[in-house]
Amino acid sequence: MHKVQHGASKAGAQLVTEQTFAQGEIVALIPDFTVVSTPTYQTIQIGPGQHIEELGVIAYMNHSCDPNTEIDTTTMTIRAVRDIAAGEQLTFFYPSTEWEMDRPFICACGSERCVGLVAGAKYLSVAILSRYFINEHIRQMILDALTPFSGSEMVEAATHHLLESA
Ligand SMILES: [Zn+2]
Repeated sequence: MHKVQHGASKAGAQLVTEQTFAQGEIVALIPDFTVVSTPTYQTIQIGPGQHIEELGVIAYMNHSCDPNTEIDTTTMTIRAVRDIAAGEQLTFFYPSTEWEMDRPFICACGSERCVGLVAGAKYLSVAILSRYFINEHIRQMILDALTPFSGSEMVEAATHHLLESA
């Protein structure tokens, strides 16, 4: 079970697990959702102009630049990036699903890797994004953003290489 704790963090609420998970294990599934065209602070992006909401407790997962889970919007699963202890807050890297966020914020996660401004993948370099699991729609949107360089196989190959090495 995962429990929402209100007022526990600066973000206002957080999702805490009562179970332990080994790296790679499924932490949660996203079985039910509604697709909307506009992002809010509680939606998760699954494609260009496609955002899902009504995610239950999943909506309370906070961002971290050193997250303990990753959300895969292709399989609608949430996996443990590393071993997770009971009582830990569940977090994911927002730019792994979000291109341009409804409510950007300055991150205070304290990680050495902290990216600072969390506003979506659009505002981060490919080099930083390549440190993380990045969803397919975001990879595609990164390539689309390189349109000025379209035709440059070198730029496209380098971008693919960086993203695949995550
Ligand atoms: Zn951070």
